[in-house]
Amino acid sequence: MALIAEHILMAIGSNSGSNSGKREGNLEPPTRHPIDWKNPEYYNQEKVEAEMERVFDVCHGCRRCVSLCDAFPTMFDLIDESETMEVDGVDKADYKQVVDQCYLCDMCYVAKCPYVPPHPFNIDFPHLMLQAKAIEHKKTGGKLRDNLLSNMDNMGKLAIPVVIETVNAVNHWSPARKILDKTMGIDKDAWLPSFTKEKFLNNINPDQSFDVVNGKRTVGKVAIFATCYINYNEPGIGHDFVAVLEHNKIPWIVAEREVCCGMPKLEQGDLEGVESLMRINIPHLAKIAREGYAIMALVPSCTLMFKQELPLMFPDNEDVQAVAAAFWDPFNYLVSRAKDDLLKNDFKQGVGTVAYHAPCHGRVQNIGKKTEEFLKSLPETEVKTTERCSGHAGTYGIKKEFHEKSMKIGRPVFRQMHQAEADYIASDCPLGGHHIKQGIQQKHDSEQNLAHPISLVRKAYGI
Ligand code: SF4
Ligand code: SF4
Repeated sequence: MALIAEHILMAIGSNSGSNSGKREGNLEPPTRHPIDWKNPEYYNQEKVEAEMERVFDVCHGCRRCVSLCDAFPTMFDLIDESETMEVDGVDKADYKQVVDQCYLCDMCYVAKCPYVPPHPFNIDFPHLMLQAKAIEHKKTGGKLRDNLLSNMDNMGKLAIPVVIETVNAVNHWSPARKILDKTMGIDKDAWLPSFTKEKFLNNINPDQSFDVVNGKRTVGKVAIFATCYINYNEPGIGHDFVAVLEHNKIPWIVAEREVCCGMPKLEQGDLEGVESLMRINIPHLAKIAREGYAIMALVPSCTLMFKQELPLMFPDNEDVQAVAAAFWDPFNYLVSRAKDDLLKNDFKQGVGTVAYHAPCHGRVQNIGKKTEEFLKSLPETEVKTTERCSGHAGTYGIKKEFHEKSMKIGRPVFRQMHQAEADYIASDCPLGGHHIKQGIQQKHDSEQNLAHPISLVRKAYGI
């Protein structure tokens, strides 16, 4: 708390002067600074540790984020249990414990922190954690397990059926999971997705036969960025989206030569890895964006990557900015399309009660509750929404050292969604949805019907 008085004086000083809007509660919209990751100074460990000391001191006095994830409780414990009970009593080597607990959900920046820029405290906690992760990754090259987990694209490309069957068997066979747990640090109890032989991108027939009808808010043609998960693990969700588009006579295509969006690599601090993927994806997506397509992905983390993180990592890259501008959350698109009076409402049935989970990477897109809004517009459908972290958090929930914590973080979500006594549980994040289903099964001994929200829309259309 030693530094916080100085920070507060700084804020008061700024309030009395020309920066009168820059006070707690921040009346001005937050600004996000570009990530200066090409600058050698970005990797200056001493500077980053000094910045962490400054920010941790403010957080220790603030504590608003204590319930968001385990990064903040870890930090507060380190400080409170130190000799001085101030941040200066914490060994800087222990800062890593805080960094490791951050899975870059962005909620502390977007939903909690009153000290984000332009406030003079200038706190961007997630991007500070990212910087610390990037330094660690540069030094160590990352753990084998983490590198594997951030290369799901390569895993999914294993096109040989027998290999896919073997990987799936290993993923779901308890003795093999114990070995994976011991040797690789992939928790033996964590839910893992199966790989499919029927990849989404190999089993589609893009339809451009419909007329392009632009509305006031929406363009009338869609490009689907399939995502690794939909392509390799759960293609049915992609096919449901295609059915909804075609039912509404919206022409659609897919992005050429798609690879992973890079979010798993960002989570590990592997920024050069993110750049390599960006260089493959962006030229094709930029071409599509300039041709006037609305680009969409059915995994919110991938949308966030293109809409926010890549533009901050490559602020001068016009192609990246063009793609960001053309990227839509699918439900934001559907709601806007309905407002344009260009979406059919010939629903054949309701879907009953839906316990809907709004994932962090959807919420931080600042588009409002578009999935909830759309589901509520379905006939005979009741939506009970939960807005908390499920704990899955990318690859965090499947790592041995974090799985138990991820189940603890998700516990309020499991309880609330179980209490909804719903016909379906649904999350825009397909992986988060499975984590919630597993949590409800384990904590409440209850089997739930899991469906992606877009699958429920298809069901309501009866198509
Ligand atoms: S970005 Fe998310 S995980 Fe990281 S510290 Fe903030 S709330 Fe916690
Ligand atoms: S990130 Fe902001 S809101 Fe959260 S504890 Fe730190 S100072 Fe408070």
